[in-house]
Amino acid sequence: MAHPDYGSIIIRGARENNLKSVSLDIPKRRITVFTGVSGSGKSSLVFGTIAAESQRLINETYPAFVQQFMPHYGQPEADQLENISAAIIVDQQRLGGNSRSTVATVTDAAQMLRVLFSRLAEPHLGSPGFYSYNDPRGLCPECEGIGQVAAMNMAAVVDESKSLAEGALLCRGFEVDSWWCAAYFRSGLFDIDKPIRDYTPEERDMLFNLDDGRKVKVDKINLTYEGVIPKLKRSLGSKDPETLQPHIRAEYDRVFTRKLCSACQGARLNAAALNSRIDGHNIAELSAMQVSDLAEWVRTIEAPQVGPMLGALATRLENLVTIGLGYLSLDRESSSLSGGESQRVKMVRHLGSSLTDITYVFDEPSVGLHPHDVGRMAGLMQQLRDKGNTVLIVEHKPDMIAIADHVVDMGPLAGTKGGEVVYEGDFAGLLTSGTLTGNHMGRHQPTKEKVRKPTGEPLKIEHARLNNLKDVSVSIPRGVLTAVSGVAGSGKSSLIQGCLPTAYPETIIIDQNLARGSRRSNTATYTGILDNVRKAFAKANGVDASLFSANSKGACADCNGLGVIYTDLAHLDPMVTTCETCDGKRFLPEVLEHRLRGRSIADVYEMSVEDAATFFTEPAIAKTLQGLVDVGLGYLTLGQPLSTLSGGERQRLKLAAELGKKGNIYVLDEPTTSLHMNDVDTLIGLFDRLVDAGSTVIVIEHNLDVIARSDWVIDLGPGAGQQGGTVQFEGVPAGLAAQANTLTGRYLATRRG
Ligand code: ADP
Ligand code: ADP
Ligand code: ZN
Ligand code: ZN
Repeated sequence: MAHPDYGSIIIRGARENNLKSVSLDIPKRRITVFTGVSGSGKSSLVFGTIAAESQRLINETYPAFVQQFMPHYGQPEADQLENISAAIIVDQQRLGGNSRSTVATVTDAAQMLRVLFSRLAEPHLGSPGFYSYNDPRGLCPECEGIGQVAAMNMAAVVDESKSLAEGALLCRGFEVDSWWCAAYFRSGLFDIDKPIRDYTPEERDMLFNLDDGRKVKVDKINLTYEGVIPKLKRSLGSKDPETLQPHIRAEYDRVFTRKLCSACQGARLNAAALNSRIDGHNIAELSAMQVSDLAEWVRTIEAPQVGPMLGALATRLENLVTIGLGYLSLDRESSSLSGGESQRVKMVRHLGSSLTDITYVFDEPSVGLHPHDVGRMAGLMQQLRDKGNTVLIVEHKPDMIAIADHVVDMGPLAGTKGGEVVYEGDFAGLLTSGTLTGNHMGRHQPTKEKVRKPTGEPLKIEHARLNNLKDVSVSIPRGVLTAVSGVAGSGKSSLIQGCLPTAYPETIIIDQNLARGSRRSNTATYTGILDNVRKAFAKANGVDASLFSANSKGACADCNGLGVIYTDLAHLDPMVTTCETCDGKRFLPEVLEHRLRGRSIADVYEMSVEDAATFFTEPAIAKTLQGLVDVGLGYLTLGQPLSTLSGGERQRLKLAAELGKKGNIYVLDEPTTSLHMNDVDTLIGLFDRLVDAGSTVIVIEHNLDVIARSDWVIDLGPGAGQQGGTVQFEGVPAGLAAQANTLTGRYLATRRG
């Protein structure tokens, strides 16, 4: 069938990051899938060029007065960018936010339910606001709509065996040398040398509970006295923990345990709202139901007067089910969703939209999905296109690449060895293109027949009941590679991440989160090679090593050795510009004069890991860098900020640091995220190295190649949420492939045929 031509997005000479003057036409109102190995330049093209230009054009339409408060998007590096329509980016950024943000609020289902209640519920309350925990008319006064109250853990607050002077008070801000303690020591109210356990009830009450606004004189100043407990409750306990900075959050978690609010039992609403019902259910009960069950319930309601509203709600819920999220409940806090779940929840909004001629940009929408659910996701992408939208997808899974009207394959490799379009055209053409991606289509890792023998006592999880787990007991063999499989929501993370570390605290979870650190963190600082690099420079030039340190007098004073200047914009991402004083070189001109084998310290920051691994002959440096090359990160530059790395890259950086250690238990949650099939092969090789060196590796995975190459498989299911939470299979991969009654087994088997 001939397609009508809606024109193209035109890109000429794109040069963001590693792109080598890329020129291409992307057909509008079609699905274009961008693929290629990790680091080849897909994100630089799709997010850094196309989406960035769209965002910039949208911002330009605001009045100048408003623009000064918005992030400034520079023009992407390109000769020509044309025909770019408004772009909506649906990525895997987690839905952070406070505890009032839930699946219901993010998908707008909350508002629809409230309107429904304001029309149909008995007894009848006025308006939708009476059913909202964000509205003073609806919220539970006891917990202010949070559903939980903070109870204080006194053992974390006071050490009864000590006196005030010995540091009996254990909270932040109450240290012996703190202002608070100093003031009260001199107030004369307490015997500061008496252990707290010897205080009289009156003294105790005074220290901990008093809150009557009385004034006390300290150093001739009148202060309002406040006991320890009311002070802590006011300064910390009244805060929404989800919004606290990490170190304050840690203190909060140490001092307070969150308890279910006794007034509303976690329902967040006041009694009037909770007593108002439709068909016997109040709004909190409906919000706590699994979405798939709620969708069925909505279909049973007959109320022609609100027909359109019911229809809209039903569609929204059914879209959640179709997208593989039927196991969530509407009251689930959005901050507890994984990256893949967050992306799918955001997607649901757009599926309900009737906008057309929008450019949708997706970052691996199949993340977190079992092969069984990938087909449905592909169908949703096609629906978006058929509504008249342009759909751009960064993807690696063959089933998702197969739905493309147009494929753009980036490569040939990563970093400076990538940045080119190596194939452009339809899917059939990709198969014979000879590119790395083309060669991987239809090829797969054979199911492992000769599995490793476990070593030592297995790891045991017994009677696990966290979340949806139904009294699960499993043994995980040590010294082998174990894959934990099952559809999204079956309970894999609950079992492994939630239950294993409580029994085996020595478990090391290798996730995709940014390593803790500051703007100073880059590839070089993370690997710890800089000390040796500075010494090598010092030795070659007969000068002091500290000269080459980014926080020394040798560094550029304007950017403090960062090479870039960060301008903080109140609530937005900071703006980053190259430092004009040193032109991004980080050091003073006289420091740059010092050379090591012809290169300056600034040149070193610009080097790729791979080049640096051969440039540095110093054994300690070369060995560390070779570890990064081995995990497939040789294309990163030494000075590249960690904040620019993808989740998958961060995870492999962490893995590189573990190579060479032995006897550890490693847990990885979907490590193949954002990896090309070729990178997956590399990753499997890494797991083998860790296991052969004596470690235990446990991966939560959908990727059939990883499952096929493991020594042991635990499959959870059969379904998601309440329909999941039981063990379907435990054994070797060939055994799972023979189990046609499990979903995973069936997919593994058809792949073999
Ligand atoms: P992909 O999306 O294909 O994994 P990217 O577009 O993220 O690839 O990266 C392409 C290259 O550009 C890689 O070498 C990557 O390390 C580099 N890169 C990406 N972002 C930045 C940045 N902000 N600064 C410097 N280099 C970057
Ligand atoms: P998987 O890892 O297999 O995708 P999970 O362990 O994440 O599955 O989820 C299993 C079940 O537990 C699902 O019904 C999910 O909604 C629920 N669940 C997971 N995490 C939480 C949480 N933090 N709060 C409430 N329910 C959760
Ligand atoms: Zn309450
Ligand atoms: Zn500078």
